[in-house]
Parts: sequence; C-alpha cells; structure tokens
Amino acid sequence: MSPTVRQMREAHLALDTPLFSGLEGDIEVSFEFFPPKTDKMGETLWNSVSTLAPLDPRFVSVTYGAGGSTRERTHEQVVRIQKEAGIPAAAHLTCVAATREEVDTVARHYWDEGIRHIVALRGDAPDGQSGYAPHPGGYENAIDLIAGLKRVGDFEISVAAYPEVHPDSPNRQADLDNLKAKFDAGATRAITQFFFEPECFFDFRDQAVAAGIEGEIVPGIMPVMSFAAVQRMSGLCGTAIPAWMGGLFEGLDEKPEARQLVSATIAAELCRRLYAGGVRQFHFYTLNRAELSYAICHMLGLRPKAQK
Ligand SMILES: Cc1cc2nc3c(=O)[nH]c(=O)nc-3n(C[C@H](O)[C@H](O)[C@H](O)COP(=O)(O)OP(=O)(O)OC[C@H]3O[C@@H](n4cnc5c(N)ncnc54)[C@H](O)[C@@H]3O)c2cc1C
Repeated sequence: MSPTVRQMREAHLALDTPLFSGLEGDIEVSFEFFPPKTDKMGETLWNSVSTLAPLDPRFVSVTYGAGGSTRERTHEQVVRIQKEAGIPAAAHLTCVAATREEVDTVARHYWDEGIRHIVALRGDAPDGQSGYAPHPGGYENAIDLIAGLKRVGDFEISVAAYPEVHPDSPNRQADLDNLKAKFDAGATRAITQFFFEPECFFDFRDQAVAAGIEGEIVPGIMPVMSFAAVQRMSGLCGTAIPAWMGGLFEGLDEKPEARQLVSATIAAELCRRLYAGGVRQFHFYTLNRAELSYAICHMLGLRPKAQK
C-alpha cells in the first residue's frame, strides 16, 4: 500500500471512530521530567512520578540543563526514580561545552548506579552565542556522542528527531541522513521534537522509512501549559503553531482551569489521530505535571496496572 493510500485510510479511521470509544489501551508510554530547582518543585516532581507510575511507563527520562548546568540534579533524580519508584529511568546527556572525559565520567557514574538508558543529545550553544560549535576536546555531535557512550557501556540509547527539520540543518534530507547515522551509531529509538498536526508526524515517518530508517520513532507530545511559553519554544525549535490553536487559547491567560481542559482536548485529539495512524508509543513532555499526561493516557484507554 502506498504511503498516500495508507494516510487516507488512517484519516478515514480517525474521523469515523467515535470519540475515544473502545480503545484497547494497547499503548506504551514514557514520561519526561526536568530536574527541580527547589524542594517545593522536587515535591511536585515526585507527586507526578507517583501519579504516573501506575500507568507502567516503559521508562521515564530526566532532562539535562542547557550546557550541562543540571549535571548533579539530573543524576540525583534519575537514580532516585529508578531506585525508589522502580521505573526504568533514562538520563538525558548533552556533549556541548564539555570534554570527552567529562562526558564519559558522567556516563560512567550512571553505569555504576545501574542506569542503562541515555537520551544522547548534542545540546545547544549557550545563550548569547550564535551557532553551535563543539568543545575543542569534546564530542562533535550526537552521532559522535553515541559512539563514545557505547565505549563506556552498552547503554540503550534514545536520540532526538525533528519532524519539522532541525533549525541547524541545511535541508530535510540532511536531517534524515543525520538521524539515520544516529541509528547506525547505536541508537534504538528516536523521540521527536513536539509538533501539533498529526500529518506532520505521518509525513516524517514515511520520509524516515524512505531514508532507510527502521528504528522506532516515538512522537513527543507536549500538552500546552502556557500558550505564550509554547509560542516562545516553538520559535526557537522550528515547530509550527497552527492558526486554529491561537484561537482556542485566546482569552484564557487568566483562566488556568479552562486552559487546562483546552490543552488536554488538543493533545488528546492529536494522540487519538496518531493512534488511528498506527502509533502505539507515546512520549509525554510532562513539564513535571502529571494531570494532563494522565488524562490523555486514560482517554487512550490506558489504565493503572493493578486495575487491569
Ligand atoms: C526528545 C528531545 C529531548 C531533548 N532533551 C534535551 C536536554 O535534556 N538538554 C538539552 O540541552 N537539550 C535537549 N534537547 C534539545 C537538543 O539538544 C537540541 O535540539 C540540539 O540543537 C540538537 O541536538 P541533537 O542531539 O538532535 O543534535 P544532532 O543530531 O547532533 O544535530 C542536530 C542537527 O544539526 C544538523 N547537523 C549536525 N551535524 C551536522 C553535520 N555535520 N552536517 C550537517 N548537519 C548537521 C542535523 O540536521 C541535525 O538534525 C532535546 C531535544 C529533543 C527532541
């Protein structure tokens, strides 16, 4: 079946299926957190981990602050989640602004603590600097970093992918070639940058297959907490914000509860359409809040493990 015919069938299925009825819950999910700065934020993170844990995520991940600024805090949370919550935890690790030895040392500490999954990333140039440049004694990019990590230990490696093309990439084909090279270097999974239209993911998935990529590509789902913040982030990472979305958030700046309902509806609808197109793995950018991700998983049929 050609990709176009498949997409048409997927679109029909998505439109014809009654809203969220009869979904089997046959999805696998993962959740992303960021390392908290204060005790209070730490409490929020931990409450979220506890709320989401019964959904039996296949892993949760913790981000690495710009330029490695959260090295210790990321380490602390990753190890704690795996040891105390019993969920396989993945550590994000970037190679920007660090020597190979520094990065290898961080990775070795993870290995020694029993962490076996790294989200391997290049990272971005520090604020105020234009354009990424590798550290003189460092890994050049994510491909190079993966090879280095594999020398430290046989980590499971996830990487980043860009349905709307990474801003540094000269074109889509170069971006796909770069992604393929990350798989060839040892990655087992790519998690996408967030996006808001399902077609964006379906097109990307087809193009990845055409580029010879056979590895798993998991959509990164961003439930919108603050529309202004998402607009800012989208501007930096090249995610398109559909015109209809601005209209849906209009007038809700001071209405957090209504905003949350709108956010959940938008993200759940995106996931439902992805599901109708055959997607069974989802990665949620939780921003350390459980409610939206939990509600979306629930609508997709996922139930706490003990109640199954
Ligand atoms: C799921 C996910 C999680 C993330 N987590 C973090 C995090 O925890 N901390 C953080 O700081 N950042 C994080 N980021 C952001 C990430 O660091 C940035 O997007 C960064 O700019 C690129 O990282 P990368 O690993 O994709 O880089 P790479 O894959 O190395 O390269 C990025 C792009 O540059 C282009 N490129 C690279 N090398 C070449 C070359 N030689 N020739 C031509 N083009 C080239 C490619 O098109 C490529 O897509 C995350 C992003 C995603 C999607």
